[in-house]
Parts: sequence; C-alpha cells; structure tokens
Amino acid sequence: MRATGRVRRNERLAALRCIACHTQYPIADMPTGCPRCAGAGHPSSVEAVYAGAPLPLQPKSQGYRWGAWLPYSDGISLGEGNTPCLDVPALARTLGVEQLWIKHEGMNPTGSHKDRMSAQAVSRALDVGARLVVLASSGNAAVSAAAYCAAAGLPCEIATYSDLPAPFARALREYGAMRVAFDSGHARWDHVRRRVERDGAFAVTNYCVPPVGSPVFGVEGYRAVALEWVAQGVRPDHVLVPTARGDLLWGVYSALRDLVHGGVLDRVPQLWAVEPFARLSRVLDGVALQSEFEGRTAQFSTAGSTVTLQQEMAARLSGGGAVLVDDHAAAEGMSRLAKAGFWVELCAGACYSGAWQLRSAGRIASSQQVLLLLTAKGDRDPFPFDSL
Ligand SMILES: [Zn+2]
Repeated sequence: MRATGRVRRNERLAALRCIACHTQYPIADMPTGCPRCAGAGHPSSVEAVYAGAPLPLQPKSQGYRWGAWLPYSDGISLGEGNTPCLDVPALARTLGVEQLWIKHEGMNPTGSHKDRMSAQAVSRALDVGARLVVLASSGNAAVSAAAYCAAAGLPCEIATYSDLPAPFARALREYGAMRVAFDSGHARWDHVRRRVERDGAFAVTNYCVPPVGSPVFGVEGYRAVALEWVAQGVRPDHVLVPTARGDLLWGVYSALRDLVHGGVLDRVPQLWAVEPFARLSRVLDGVALQSEFEGRTAQFSTAGSTVTLQQEMAARLSGGGAVLVDDHAAAEGMSRLAKAGFWVELCAGACYSGAWQLRSAGRIASSQQVLLLLTAKGDRDPFPFDSL
C-alpha cells in the first residue's frame, strides 16, 4: 500500500475532451462535464485524451499498472485491479453459448469495481492538493472512497440515504469517513454541490441535474477492466454490465474503442447495460434522455431515476443496448451464479439473467462468447433474500 501522498500523472495525458461535441479542454477538474454542452442544455461527460498512438497490448503484460492508458500511472493503491476473468463452461452449457467468461470485480480490495474509480480519483485529489473529498453514495462507492481516502490520509465526507444499511454504515465509521444523511437522491447531490462550489471540496461522484457521469479521473479507472481481459486473450462478442449511470460501461467502452483504433481489436463487442427497470431501454426507444424514470428495485447498486449520455453512447455505439431484468429474475440469476461458486450482489445476478434473456431472444447466438461483469460480492447486499 502506498500512502505517501505522492502520485505520478501519466505523461501521455494531454487534454480532456467532451464525449459528445469533442471540444478539447486543458487538464482540469470538470465535475459538471463539458461547459459547452451544459450551456446548450444537454450535459455531457468529458474523457481523457492520451497523446501518441495507442500501444499494442502484450498478452500477460503488466496488469493494472496501465501507465499509458490511465490518468495516474502511480498513486494511492490498495491492490485493486487484475481481477480474475474465468472461463465457466458449466454456465456456458446452461446458456447454450460457446464460451462464458466471468470477470469478478468483487475480488477488489473493498469488494467492488468502485475501487478502480477510487484509486484514480483519490490520486487526483492528492495531485491537486484537495483537503476534502466528497461524494453521494449509499453503497459500494461510499465504502470504497472511504477506504482509499483513509489510505491517502484525506478527509472524506459522504452524502448517504438516511437508511444506509448497517454493514455500510459500520465500514464508513471504521474508515473514519464523515457521513451526512438525506432522504432523497437529489438532496444528496445538492449537498455535494454546495461542498464543491462553496467549500472547494473534491467531488468523486456526479452532483448535476440532469446528470453526467462521475468526474473523469475516476471513470477513466474503469478502462483497466477491459484492458485486463483483452491482455488475457479473452475476446467476447457480448459483455453484460450492471448499469446505473454508466461509469463502468463508458470506461470499458472507451478502452475497447481505443484498442480498435490502435489495431489491437477488430471491433468493440456488443455492450449491454443491465438495468432493474426501464430507463435506458426507454431512451433507446426514443424517450428523452433527460427524463426522470421512476421505478422501485431491490437492486440497490443500479437504482436511480436518471440516464446519462455516456451510457446511451456506450450501448448504442457498440451495437449493444439495454436489458431489463426485474428483481425476481435477478434473484434467479444470483442463485444460479452462486451454484457455480460466485456469490455476488443482486444486480450482478441480473447479468446472468440478462444473458439468458438475450440468448432466448436470439440476440446472442450459440456460436458466440459472453462475458459477465460481476460488479460486487454478495455478502454486503442488503437485499432481503428470503422475500422473493
Ligand atoms: Zn460538449
């Protein structure tokens, strides 16, 4: 573990660029995304621009330390990344596909993929001399940010829901994070906004309405997820990703897109956003992206009433889409994964059911390979497992 407060920025990091209008900006923190698009009424995320031609990936190359592909090549780490990507023939047979891969993000230090975002975002916070890190989360992102801030020696304040599940509340307390409780998601965002605009705090998550993705330096950390499976030689045709606002989906997409441009891959696999109620699926059917999408779900990591441009773009540009998996189906998927040895959160269980749905509908062919991105372990999930 490094906790020296010293970080090293990737020397290839050249600029930021809007994912929609492609306007370039100098390196800076832009938590509300592209000013030009926000001014035009359709907020959009920015992404990092890395100078020079993309480097070809060597099989079994150095894993998470993707110096050329992430904003920070060295910084605060608790050993995140390099998660197992496993060939699971039994599940492939059940689904009726050629091969099924499981990328198990629950194997990260605090049990979820969020550690990849925290490592990069907290390194950024140190780089710019932040004195307070703030975020809105009532789940895995909260625990992860609290852990990485503890490692960095940075104060961390988290806007949570009032009914934060006990295992999460305890983790935040032990990590020494400050907690401020609210009854609505938008109230949490207002609090983060005040902290950033009034007190100069460093934001790890979105606080805009309509929303953009989380701030760029964190989201870029998700690129390593795809880089790892590609370096391992895994070439799925379809990738299923539990999705709320699409940080992970976009990070994976951006890395795969760059690998195509660099000649490492022939094409981006079809990326499917697995959602607990209709949000992105409605947007892809023509409903306005900035609508509020109300719905109830026990899949707490992918709850939320909004859709971001980044998730719409990642799904559409990859030729994938949205897969709607309700809580009953998610529980069945979770149970099926557990029977294969993978105990994951409910929305990760929805990935398996989503693949089943796509296979049944003929969207996934029997000759194809599928990768399920399992976002977090199941032992902390507050879902009442006996209720379905
Ligand atoms: Zn823009």
